[in-house]
Amino acid sequence: MKKVAKFGGSSLADANQFKKVAAIIKEDSSRKIVVPSAPGKRFKEDIKVTDLLHNAYLAKTEKEFQELFSAIQERYNSIIDELELTISLQEEFDTIEKAFKDKIGLDYAFSRGEYLNGLVLADYLGFTFIDAKDVIFIDKDGNYDEKMTDPILSKALIQHEYVVIPGFYGSLNTQPNTIKAFSRGGSDVTGSIVAKNGHVALYENWTDVSGFLVADPRYVHNPESIGTITYKELRELSYMGASVLHENSIFPIRNEGIPINIKNTNKPTDAGTLIVESTCHKPDHVITGIAGKKGFATIMIEKDMMNSEIGFGRKVLQVLEEYQISFEHIPSGIDTMTIIVNTEDFISKEQAILSGIHRAVQPDTITLESDLALIAIVGRGMKAARGTAAKVFTALARENVNIKMIDQGSSELNIIVGVRNCYFEDALKAIYHEFIDLDA
Ligand code: ASP
Repeated sequence: MKKVAKFGGSSLADANQFKKVAAIIKEDSSRKIVVPSAPGKRFKEDIKVTDLLHNAYLAKTEKEFQELFSAIQERYNSIIDELELTISLQEEFDTIEKAFKDKIGLDYAFSRGEYLNGLVLADYLGFTFIDAKDVIFIDKDGNYDEKMTDPILSKALIQHEYVVIPGFYGSLNTQPNTIKAFSRGGSDVTGSIVAKNGHVALYENWTDVSGFLVADPRYVHNPESIGTITYKELRELSYMGASVLHENSIFPIRNEGIPINIKNTNKPTDAGTLIVESTCHKPDHVITGIAGKKGFATIMIEKDMMNSEIGFGRKVLQVLEEYQISFEHIPSGIDTMTIIVNTEDFISKEQAILSGIHRAVQPDTITLESDLALIAIVGRGMKAARGTAAKVFTALARENVNIKMIDQGSSELNIIVGVRNCYFEDALKAIYHEFIDLDA
């Protein structure tokens, strides 16, 4: 049996954390493939190595560069010294310094945190180091190129049994050897790609929390944790802001049936959350989780007799496509169509889109509003349960929260409600208490 163990930045922030990681690896010999992030924060005000690298790369003066670059070297050297390793990264630092001065690229700069941490961890564990640039290929938009990656990566994983592969980066698929990074937090995606190609039984994702919580603890006091969640549920929750795992982590393994176990490096005996394709485990509650985000805008289009105008929706959406705006939901009435979009993406293009829609479909009016928060109530248990929507609406009514939008797909996996930004927290709390506390 083989497992991938991916460790996040806080799990590898200093020598003490490295020791915890080594104990976890040694305790289970099936943990054969290790994917490290760059050293994260050691304390609240600390700066992650990835951010130090970013700032060093963009430093305006030599003095600023040297200060930041020394801080980076110091992070690694203190880990090496405290672990009493004999490895030296001096040559690597020299190469990186030169590459930074040659302005080789921001992705290269970002990725060096994982690269160096991988070298140190491989040395400490006595595992083979495989540079991600040789086995993972990423397109210009940051998506993994599976056709190019899979044969090369799976071959490397057959050749070497105990390996460390740094997370977060690979090579650009059109220019191997040019470093390309995933989006921030992308080591989770590397873990998933490696799990797929190593044909492992389990992808363990070690972090600093004991799994997913039913709701965001910033808004709900001491929420329950989730024992088992499906890929689909997780995708819905991650998309709406639940942030333990990178939202693209599911894609590489979604057709492989490999479970992901979120585990806590600081409390390794906690069960954590198991993420699976499908399960007979009955959820503890009708809903598995609640997540939400503020910052959405609505484009409300009105036109008499819209219902009989075939192609109306397509023409409107084509305008959004022209301006590269992705839509979230489209609740509609007989003579109205409302499109919900991300305000940040939309705002700089709003007037162009507005006139584009006028030209495309000649509506009577278009009204824009930008005060919407979306909340997703997600749960595989909803399918068989009656009254879930009623409970959501009762909870919101009790809190005096006005609902601006409702959306439930026929998959019955989630209900999305839109409320004004100012009601966001009250709404989350009310829904949590209705389903979890009162259900318990
Ligand atoms: N170190 C990178 C970041 O801070 C990638 C990762 O940790 O997954 O985003």
